Amino acid sequence: MYVVRMCGKATHEEIIVVGGGVIGLSISIFLSRKGYRVMVIERNKVGCEASSKNAGLVVPAMYSPYPLSIDYIKVMRMMTSKASPVKISPVRMGCRWIRHILGNRRRLARDARWKSLRRKGREAIEIIRGLVREMDIDCRYREGSILEIYTDRDYLSEAVKHAEEVEADGLRIEILDGDELREIEPSLSTSVIGGLRYVYDASLDPQAYIAGLKKLAVEEGIKIIEGIEVLGFNEDSSVRVFSRKGVFESDYLVLANGPWIRDLLNRTGYDIMIHPARGYILTLKVKNSDTLKYSLMVEEAKVVALPLGGTIRLAGIMDFVGYDTRIPHGRLEKLLTRVYSQVPILKDLEIISMETAFRPCTPDELPVIGYLPGSDKVLVAGGHCRFGLTFSGLTGLLVSQLIAGEETVIDIGIFSPSRLMTGSNM
Ligand SMILES: Cc1cc2nc3c(=O)[nH]c(=O)nc-3n(C[C@H](O)[C@H](O)[C@H](O)COP(=O)(O)OP(=O)(O)OC[C@H]3O[C@@H](n4cnc5c(N)ncnc54)[C@H](O)[C@@H]3O)c2cc1C
Repeated sequence: MYVVRMCGKATHEEIIVVGGGVIGLSISIFLSRKGYRVMVIERNKVGCEASSKNAGLVVPAMYSPYPLSIDYIKVMRMMTSKASPVKISPVRMGCRWIRHILGNRRRLARDARWKSLRRKGREAIEIIRGLVREMDIDCRYREGSILEIYTDRDYLSEAVKHAEEVEADGLRIEILDGDELREIEPSLSTSVIGGLRYVYDASLDPQAYIAGLKKLAVEEGIKIIEGIEVLGFNEDSSVRVFSRKGVFESDYLVLANGPWIRDLLNRTGYDIMIHPARGYILTLKVKNSDTLKYSLMVEEAKVVALPLGGTIRLAGIMDFVGYDTRIPHGRLEKLLTRVYSQVPILKDLEIISMETAFRPCTPDELPVIGYLPGSDKVLVAGGHCRFGLTFSGLTGLLVSQLIAGEETVIDIGIFSPSRLMTGSNM
């Protein structure tokens, strides 16, 4: 083993960020712009997990933590139904996880501080728009480009209620009937009775966005090391980060390695409730790049159709089944049938790939942003679940403000890691 002082002789404070996903890259750029020297350590290639495979929606207006929309009956249905877009395996997840979701339902209903994320939604979008403008890579960034569609009257009326709440938080959603929707997106079938248009929110190509962030980071002088897995760390006057290729030393350490934050913390005597939620990503080949004009959220199947020029990406569905990469073809087909009945044009397109990816989820669907209990050098930034891309820029800003000792733009007390932690180090 050898010790590497991160960037030669330390003249500035130095920070190691573990994980080159959208969260780690965004944090590194914000820290670098505050004058810190930053190194990102990624075990594989940057963005290789959910960060480049997601549905590409920057949608603070959709944000409402899932415990609020779940109750005992829904949980039972999700555990038993073969066609549910959300699956919870009690064997893989344990009863503690389900108890926590239901407990958080009660807590979040009383404590509206979670809305601070949605209320900062315009800023979350502006940050991403600003970063996209700096990139000389076409990320297909478009605002006002997302429609959420419904065939069921009860679901639609819940969505309309949500839209009204969101307006109060400073974002805008238009409510459209079926004909109005078909006028702007002719690919929709007559089974669609209505839906929403997200006016301020945006969509982009996640893979291009990651490539753009990587390029910006390199131009900033951020060191990105790929192919090194961080195996553990300890801290006293500095932080030491262990890997098979050696020991790295820095002043601060930010754990931004998605659902694997839990595995890394387990090795240092902590446990944190961040779990993987599997999603699916299908790539469809299109002849005509105009096949879809809008990105479509087919809410009843929890699938997004994202147009990407020569292809359309179908991404979504939430399975709490651990790190299982098997694709349940039968169930997927049932859910796709629902999608095709609303957007028939997709049915005839060739599926050229099928993948899985894991969202990093907490039982209250609030991210974890803050120092580990008892530490003033090691921070956690993750657990954004369905909204990691959406709040990535805002998270970068918050972490940089926290390390710089500045007032944060949101009171981050509600994101504290300690709310989800147990362990011998606590
Ligand atoms: C199907 C699907 C659709 C989605 N759609 C959207 C959407 O439309 N909008 C939205 O906002 N969000 C969406 N999300 C969620 C979003 O993709 C995630 O919240 C986000 O990518 C999480 O980013 P991250 O950087 O925290 O984690 P990740 O992307 O998982 O990155 C973590 C990185 O850490 C690396 N790593 C892990 N362990 C180590 C280690 N020990 N040492 C070094 N490196 C390590 C991994 O290789 C990985 O590259 C979607 C997710 C899925 C699966």
